Amino acid sequence: MIIGRLPGGSLADYARLFRLQPELIQKSNEPGLCVGEVGEKVCIPGYSGKPYRLKEGETVDSVASNCHFDSKAIKLMNQGVQGHPGSSILLPYRVESPVVIGRTEYSPAILARDLEALTETYPFAKVSPIGYSVLGKPIWELKIGSGERKIHFNASFHANEWITSGILMELVNMYLLALCENQSVFGKEALSIFESTELSVVPMVNPDGVDLVLNGPPAGFGEAVTGMNGGRTDFSGWKANIRGVDLNNQFPANWEVEKERKEPQSPAPRDFPGTAPLSEPEALAMARLTEKSGFDAVIAFHTQGEEFYWGYGGREPAVSSYIAAEFSRLSGYRAVRTIDSHAGFKDWFIQEYRRPGFTIELGKGINPLPLSCFNKIYRDVSGIFQFAIGGCC
Ligand SMILES: [Zn+2]
Repeated sequence: MIIGRLPGGSLADYARLFRLQPELIQKSNEPGLCVGEVGEKVCIPGYSGKPYRLKEGETVDSVASNCHFDSKAIKLMNQGVQGHPGSSILLPYRVESPVVIGRTEYSPAILARDLEALTETYPFAKVSPIGYSVLGKPIWELKIGSGERKIHFNASFHANEWITSGILMELVNMYLLALCENQSVFGKEALSIFESTELSVVPMVNPDGVDLVLNGPPAGFGEAVTGMNGGRTDFSGWKANIRGVDLNNQFPANWEVEKERKEPQSPAPRDFPGTAPLSEPEALAMARLTEKSGFDAVIAFHTQGEEFYWGYGGREPAVSSYIAAEFSRLSGYRAVRTIDSHAGFKDWFIQEYRRPGFTIELGKGINPLPLSCFNKIYRDVSGIFQFAIGGCC
C-alpha cells in the first residue's frame, strides 16, 4: 500500500512502524517503483489499507490508540483526514493470504491480473517484459531479491501445460508471504535468501499457445491453426506456439539432429522444431534473457510424468547429480539423467554454461492436466522450489 511520508520520516522509521525488514521497504521504494512522487509517497510492502468507519465519539487519535498497531502508523495513513463520526479512515492490514489464485485455467489475462496484484502488494518484486510473442503479448519476467546467486524458473513453454504457470505463481507468492512475515523457507530465513539470491521467474513462455488452448483461435488465425491441427477445432493437444513451432525444440543444442529426425517437418500442434534455431520470438527472448542474466541454475516446469531430466550429453556439472537426488527425495519424482532429446531450453543451458539445468515433468495424467491435480502437484514441487531458491546451487 502507499502512504504519505511525513517530513523527516525515514524508510527505516517506516520499517519499524510496520514491523518490516528495512531491505524490503528500501527495495519497494526505488525510483520508478512507487506510484506518486518519490519523496512524498512511501510503498509499504505486504500491507493494504482497510476502510474503517468512525463511530460516534471516535477520532483518528482514539482509534489509533486503541488499535494493536502503532498509533503513528495509523496517523500516517490518515494524514489530513478530519475524522468526524461516520467518516471513513484507513487501518493497516497485513496481507496474510495469497493474492495469486493459481488453481484456475491460467490464461495470459489471469497472469497479468496476478502480476499486478503481486507487484502492488510486494513492490520489491519487479516485473518487466523480456520480449513479445508472435501476437505481441508480453513475455513477463518477475525478479525478486538482489543477491549474487541467480536462479531461474520458467513455466508454460508448452501451451497445453498451462497448469505449470499457476503452480509457479503460487510458489512465488508463498515466498513473498514468507519474506514479509519474516518466516523461514527450507530452514533458512526468507530474508537471507532475498539478500543472497536473485530469483528470476518467467511464468508463461508461450502466452499465445496457452490462449489458443484455453480460449480458442485468435481473430484472423482460425483457418491457419485449425489447418495445422488437422482440421480439428479442439486445441487441447496443442503444445506449440501460434505458428506451430515447438518452443522447447528451438534451442541450438543439436537442433539439426532434431530437425532431421523429427516428424512433423512442417508447422504442427507439437514437436516441429522450426526452420532455424531461435526462429520464434518466444524462444529468442528466453535465450537472450539467459545470455544476459548469468543464471547459476535453471528449472523449467512442464507436465506430465512425475519425473525430471537433469543431464545433457555428459556436460552437466557434478553438483547436478546431488541436486537431482535432493529434488527426487523432496518431490517423490523420478530423477532421469538423460533422454534421447535435443534442442530443449535446459539442453542448451547445460551445453552452453555447464551449470545445473532441469526439466521437471509435473503431475501425472493426460495434458492438459485437470485442476484436480493442482494441490498434489503444488505439494510435491514446493520442496523443489524451496530447495532451489534456498541455496542448493
Ligand atoms: Zn512440456
